[in-house]
Amino acid sequence: MARILVTGAGGFIGSHLARMLKQRGHFVRAVDVKWDGYMEEDYASERRTLDLRSGTACLAATEGMDEVYNLAANMGGIGFITSVGADVAHDNVLINAHMLQAAIANRVGRFFFSSSACVYPEYRQANPGVVPLREEDALPADPDSFYGWEKLFTEKMAEAYARDYGLDVRVARFHNIYGPEGTYEGGREKAPAALCRKAAEAPDGGTIEIWGDGNQTRSYCYIDDCVSGILALMASECGSPVNIGSDRLVSVDGLADMIVGISGKALSRKHLCEAPQGVRGRNADLSMARSRLGWEPEVTLEEGLEKTYRWILSRVKQKGK
Ligand code: NAD
Repeated sequence: MARILVTGAGGFIGSHLARMLKQRGHFVRAVDVKWDGYMEEDYASERRTLDLRSGTACLAATEGMDEVYNLAANMGGIGFITSVGADVAHDNVLINAHMLQAAIANRVGRFFFSSSACVYPEYRQANPGVVPLREEDALPADPDSFYGWEKLFTEKMAEAYARDYGLDVRVARFHNIYGPEGTYEGGREKAPAALCRKAAEAPDGGTIEIWGDGNQTRSYCYIDDCVSGILALMASECGSPVNIGSDRLVSVDGLADMIVGISGKALSRKHLCEAPQGVRGRNADLSMARSRLGWEPEVTLEEGLEKTYRWILSRVKQKGK
């Protein structure tokens, strides 16, 4: 049994990860500045409310921990990360710099950092039929958001801590993780959750809005696969960044079709071409994850969306009461 810190454990991926680690018998300290509260059970051994932009808070969080999973970040979907630059860069640089430093001070054994597909350069994602992105494609750098630049910088900062202080670092680049108990309203939600919410709220025969012309493409990875990918990476000897995602490319219209089908409603679509839509196409090459971690996603998009839609529908119904 290890003593494990999960930061960002009040949020989506962190809460699922903490639950899995606790189920495996570890002592799990969950840290966040706020708690989404979607999970009803006590999914961590200990809970601390801390603002990790401060070095003192990071020292308190990492004290006595064997491993750290650092998922805390000021982040959101495309609408959020295209409109908020300074706060995202400021908060995340502080969290990550202090967390790395605190991990050294408290002699943490292994350190996980949650990076993002947003590190990849815009010039490799200019059309919907994009070539799947390999890890080495991140350079020469040209991420399309401040959020992506910060993630890329922190990857390098973690590499420096590994070289200079011997910190045992693992870095995952997540590609559009979705599933139940994730943000689905309020402006930080991502496309799968937003579309599920719109379909759940719409009356039969109604209309849902889709950002962009619907031809932009992405790949989507279900939360359970993401958690198993993180655990496989942490158990591996792979010290360089690895894609954790899916390599099934889908257009946003295709995604909407699937969700509308699951809802069982007849819904028409209105495209908002002026709304933020990010890069034109993005897909993950999973060769490294397969060969170095022996990991690949198992949950189909159909299965994952069904579970996500059902959960969001139940939330929408609860609120309507
Ligand atoms: P999330 O927003 O649900 O979780 C992030 C958590 O960090 C939130 O609960 C938030 O309160 C917490 N946090 C923010 N500022 C903090 C602070 N100052 N101190 C303490 N906690 C703070 O997001 P998520 O989807 O669970 O993402 C987890 C990690 O994975 C993030 O680092 C994110 O950048 C990364 N990521 C996620 C995706 C995805 O598709 N969900 C894709 C790429 C990368």
